Amino acid sequence: MKIVDIETFAVPPRWLFCRVATDEGVVGWGEPILEGRADTVRAAVHELADYLVGQDPLRVEEHWQIMSKGGFYRGGPVLSSAVAGIDQALWDIAGQVYGAPVHALLGGPVRERVRMYTWVGGDEPAEIGDAVAEKVEQGFTAVKMNGSAVMSRIATAGEIDDALARLQAARDALGPSRDVAVDFHGRVSAANARRLLPLMEPLHPLFVEEPVLPEFDERLASLVAASSVPIAVGERYFDRHEFLGPLRAGVSVVQPDISHAGGISEVRRIAALAETCDAVLAPHCPLGPIALAASLQVAFATPNFLIQEQSLGIHYNVGNDLLDYLLDPSVFRFVDGHVERPLGPGLGIRIDEEAVRQADKVGHRWRSPVWRHEDGSFAEW
Ligand SMILES: [Mg+2]
Repeated sequence: MKIVDIETFAVPPRWLFCRVATDEGVVGWGEPILEGRADTVRAAVHELADYLVGQDPLRVEEHWQIMSKGGFYRGGPVLSSAVAGIDQALWDIAGQVYGAPVHALLGGPVRERVRMYTWVGGDEPAEIGDAVAEKVEQGFTAVKMNGSAVMSRIATAGEIDDALARLQAARDALGPSRDVAVDFHGRVSAANARRLLPLMEPLHPLFVEEPVLPEFDERLASLVAASSVPIAVGERYFDRHEFLGPLRAGVSVVQPDISHAGGISEVRRIAALAETCDAVLAPHCPLGPIALAASLQVAFATPNFLIQEQSLGIHYNVGNDLLDYLLDPSVFRFVDGHVERPLGPGLGIRIDEEAVRQADKVGHRWRSPVWRHEDGSFAEW
């Protein structure tokens, strides 16, 4: 079997899909997207196609090595996202050829269903209590919210109180048996994080995510020590080497994105690295259906898995949503906030290729918002 073609499709709301075709008619799908950089990653995918076309698609690890290291320059968000999407598509092909879901090829299932969380509140959370109550009504047992909107580098008492009040409102709506995770999103400075973490401690967040930006990760050890709140990082780390420092600093949760961090092959290894530090996996996935399907395949085969992010109804999904490009959306049916184990071959989803080809004609130019502080200076989003 040989790879004969790699196509890419920029589909709304902000995703990029790739389709890897073989000479035997088997087709694999992947999602090589870096949000806001779809065209850049698309170019990287087509550069990698020069190597891949003509190769045996079943040599997944061999291709991961060549794609990741064979270009001399390696790593980073763009190249690792390109590799990630192709890696997903190759695993999808392998599953179809061997007649098994990817999690079976990874050693078989270690759980029967996967716990999911859902977003509440968007970027500037208001009415958090009502939003959380709605998700509880839908059966979710865990939600995630942004910890704050724009926050001054040294927060005012009012900004601190607002962040605590929102978390309190979520906790009140959830009760003690459900969970709320809080995303600081890199918009909270190290000084603010050190102040907020002990104050949030009595509200028992599941974890606090990105308490500082990745470039300040030498501060993680002190933030881990600042409270008993579990610290999560990882959506802006792109290979296992980048996770080593945070894990040694004591983070409890790693959040690689299967469309950014080298795909199924590398996220599987990041999970194993985390396991050596008694940390758990909670993959980042505010993305499309292929990224979620790939994440779930890893979740079903990974012992130290905590919870999975998903994007249904997320504030980014304007115009199109998670289920739009699937022939059978029931694979992502949430029951009591969980997804059942997919039994189909490969990634376990079937893509509506006609819908994808039509959507690509529309395309998208999604960009990250640029935020500013009150004085007009740049603020982290
Ligand atoms: Mg995040």
